Amino acid sequence: MLQVAFGQSKYFSDNLKQNVERGIRQKLRRGEWLTKAPFGYVNNVKTRNIEPDKLKSRLVVRAFKEFATGKHCYESISQFLAEHGVVTRNGTPLSKCAVSAMLCNRAYLGFVKHHGEWYDGTFAPILSPTLFEAVQKVLKTRQKPRKSKIAHPFHFLGFARCGECGSMFTAQYSTNRFGAKYSYYRCTKKFGVCGQLYLQEHALATQLKTLLQSVSLPREEILKMESKINEWENKNISSRGSDVQNLKDKIRGNQEKLDKLVSIYLDGDIERKIYLERKDLLMREKASLLESERGFGQQRKNWVEPLRSFVLSLKECADLEKSENYLEWKTFF
Ligand SMILES: [Zn+2]
Repeated sequence: MLQVAFGQSKYFSDNLKQNVERGIRQKLRRGEWLTKAPFGYVNNVKTRNIEPDKLKSRLVVRAFKEFATGKHCYESISQFLAEHGVVTRNGTPLSKCAVSAMLCNRAYLGFVKHHGEWYDGTFAPILSPTLFEAVQKVLKTRQKPRKSKIAHPFHFLGFARCGECGSMFTAQYSTNRFGAKYSYYRCTKKFGVCGQLYLQEHALATQLKTLLQSVSLPREEILKMESKINEWENKNISSRGSDVQNLKDKIRGNQEKLDKLVSIYLDGDIERKIYLERKDLLMREKASLLESERGFGQQRKNWVEPLRSFVLSLKECADLEKSENYLEWKTFF
């Protein structure tokens, strides 16, 4: 008798587990958030989903915008949030860890998380993919320890290759016969024989200046280019149809890739870690594509912005040539 009872309770608990799993799958299929709303959202009992909290969602946007400027660290964002009343249960500012988790939380893109995997949600996203990706870019540069800046105050380290053999350049200090310290650069000769000699920093700077001069243009030429761009832009508004089609193809291609990825994962052909990484990239790409599709009406032609920024860089170049700020030169090159 007892055995039967045990057997039954095992049956019930298995059944319960299956039901819960089924419930979760159904919620996922409907794009509903599964647990307590993440910061910035509130749970809506009626829709059984989450929705942006009016005030808190604006704080999320502000925090992302601030961080995207690149002028912040986790602490200053935590400070910023604390000033607006966002603190831990104990009343202390959020930890660095919490801030870093918030800055890459895909829930703000409208995705749902379950067992470490992200799915499409049906609730309103708080952030535009553009802003989200801008923050991811800043986060990525933060991940790399920038030891070169601290350990080597060489202005042109790590960006030039030898023109003769293609090896990277390295920098060293030396002292001249008057006891003055100076920095010089040389080919690492990693690829074997190379006849290049040492190059002092000012000599390298002179070469760079020549390069700057060769691409910089007089101001009136730049102005002419800018007005030409405006003209092209106006003419090209009519040919937008094909771009929309192009975008549609890309969106379809992205969906096909996603489907294929899921199917090879289900076949057991790739590891879960790789699957999750690729899926994350594809889903974010999809969000960005859908964003540009939505914004197409107002958006300027996709080539206009790159061309404009190119002309802007010519302008910048003309200014740089006059300055002697080597770090700015390096960034520009
Ligand atoms: Zn070389």
